[in-house]
Amino acid sequence: MAGRVLGGKVRYGLYNRACFHMLKQLKDYINYQFSRKIHDNEKLPFLFISSYSVLLISAAHHICLLVISSIAEIPVFIYMNLTSIFIYVGLLFLLAKKKYILVNLLFSLEVMLFTFFSIWLLGALDNYMIVYLLLLLMIQAVVPYGNKRIRINMVLLIIMTITASIGVSFSDKHRILLTPQINKIFMVFNIFLFCMVTTLLINFSNSLKIYANKLSYLRISDLETKAYTDPLTQLFNRRYADIIFNNLDNNKINYIAALMDIDDFKKINDNYGHASGDAVLEFVSRFLLKNLRKADVVFRWGGEEFLILLADVNLSAAYVILEKLRVKLSVSDIPVIKGTLRLTVTIGTAELNPRYPFKSIDDCDKKLYRGKSLNKNVVVI
Ligand code: GH3
Ligand code: MG
Ligand code: MG
Repeated sequence: MAGRVLGGKVRYGLYNRACFHMLKQLKDYINYQFSRKIHDNEKLPFLFISSYSVLLISAAHHICLLVISSIAEIPVFIYMNLTSIFIYVGLLFLLAKKKYILVNLLFSLEVMLFTFFSIWLLGALDNYMIVYLLLLLMIQAVVPYGNKRIRINMVLLIIMTITASIGVSFSDKHRILLTPQINKIFMVFNIFLFCMVTTLLINFSNSLKIYANKLSYLRISDLETKAYTDPLTQLFNRRYADIIFNNLDNNKINYIAALMDIDDFKKINDNYGHASGDAVLEFVSRFLLKNLRKADVVFRWGGEEFLILLADVNLSAAYVILEKLRVKLSVSDIPVIKGTLRLTVTIGTAELNPRYPFKSIDDCDKKLYRGKSLNKNVVVI
């Protein structure tokens, strides 16, 4: 099957097949977000830093709320925030003891209870207290504190709390009526918090990838690094692929293989010179490392050909990832010696059979060849 995005239009057969495909893509995307497997040695520093930042920001947030509620003279809210601050002190101690799951579960519970009771007391419509729960949802996707099951259950619990909070926001039986000014202060503060934490979370997931990419190089010694990497692009070479292929069974990671070849690369060399061609190869390599997940592996397979191993995704999720990669690369301006240029790539992809990896790569090669004959700039699965 070959699909291609052309001017924003996706060419697939029947309308209902397209709907089905989109639903499947959505499901794959959610799976993909939750399936980022992290090797133990990569996981801990990131987990510590992200949990620590989340706790510190939340504690600072409660201190700000404490100040606002003292100014507004809302005693119950003052006590609630004081309690939360004490809880955070305890959580920071637990974190120092590396009790990641416990810390994050208690933290999530605190946020849910705090938000629910805040909305119960102060309402939700004017002051945007509900954003705490939305941020908590995002944290489940970014901070890898527990396995997929724990985090999915937590997501469900948060969604239930959101529903209950919305429900309770309509009843003003216990409501403390706030002045419009105080409501506005809460609103501005909550919007600011939401924007700040969202930006931080996005940066966190990026730095996780970059950090882990570095680590995957550090796992082998300096001398070995030279033997296993390509000097121009610093990507792994075929020799390292042998090592990965020999350990596929022990690794317990399922890979999708994808062979990516730059279209009409010879023309780039001819038109811009060999040095620019080299710069393009370096750019594409950096682009791949930056845009793939940390568990994925990238090799320079030949001159202008790259082998990508996508970890723990199925073929249709891999297709989504590779399509995104293809489109993004095709609209990237690549700096060369004289100005910039754009290029396209053709990708052939297949599941990596752990027993016969080279046969799978052969499959990718055949699909790549088919893509080239289909006018290039396409992902073939
Ligand atoms: P297609 O779309 O069919 O893939 O066409 P193409 O021009 O990309 O493929 P072809 O195999 O005809 O040419 C690949 C070129 O890549 C030829 C070779 O000189 C060049 N090449 C291979 N390795 C390097 C390198 O390290 N640096 C540079 N600058 N060029 C390289
Ligand atoms: Mg080529
Ligand atoms: Mg080639």
